Amino acid sequence: MAEGMVCYHHPSQQAVAQCGRCKKGICEDCYDTYGVTSGEYAGRALCYDCTVLEVEENVNAVTLLRKIIKTEFVFIIVGVVIGAVLGGILMGSSSGDIGGVIMGVILFGLLGGCGWAVLKALGLLISGGGDLGTKGDFRGLGKMIKGFAMIIVAPFRTIIKIVTRLRQIKEMNQIVANDALAVEEMKAYFAYTQVIEANKGVELATLVGPGGALVENKYAKAVLSNGESAAQTNLRSEVKQIFDNNEKLKDFSEKK
Ligand SMILES: [Zn+2]
Ligand SMILES: [Zn+2]
Repeated sequence: MAEGMVCYHHPSQQAVAQCGRCKKGICEDCYDTYGVTSGEYAGRALCYDCTVLEVEENVNAVTLLRKIIKTEFVFIIVGVVIGAVLGGILMGSSSGDIGGVIMGVILFGLLGGCGWAVLKALGLLISGGGDLGTKGDFRGLGKMIKGFAMIIVAPFRTIIKIVTRLRQIKEMNQIVANDALAVEEMKAYFAYTQVIEANKGVELATLVGPGGALVENKYAKAVLSNGESAAQTNLRSEVKQIFDNNEKLKDFSEKK
């Protein structure tokens, strides 16, 4: 860090560190407030701007994941419908009764929902059967067993996937709500530090009072009613959440 560097956001304060992302100088208070405990910036601190950017990235990641999940669900639904129709026709024409039709719709619908896995399994069955039948190669039997096993587990895997995705969607909504709250708190705190810096020596109660610069400020109100340290603790736990959420979202993307 350069000698004599000051905080980018609080020019009257000496910088104690540089932002882990943009390298701007940050003062002790910024460092304590936007210090990162988890994820790729762990052990460092980000400046206010970069912390806000992290939140924007969280929101973008959530938007992207939602799109991916939506596409997955569309594929599953289309597969179920195609499978159900095919199953109904096939089993209906071979058994000739309504029970057969219903069985066909359920079974093929379930398999259709697993789309790609079932196609791969069918490929194994056909090529395994070919190896065994035409070439007398017994390794074909292994392929066929693998194909059968894949067909049996496919519906369970699809159901597990749907349940997992629904849970992820719920968690993602929670993350977006948490992050929005954290940014709101951060913005209030940021405005608060700017006003305090520009009004040295003025009582906080005056600034929060009628006509004061902090009359609408949530953070200033929290300091007045709960004290500085409680307000700080609350803010820091909100900010910490942002970086924890980042990690959670990365996990979701990796499990795609
Ligand atoms: Zn930065
Ligand atoms: Zn600062």
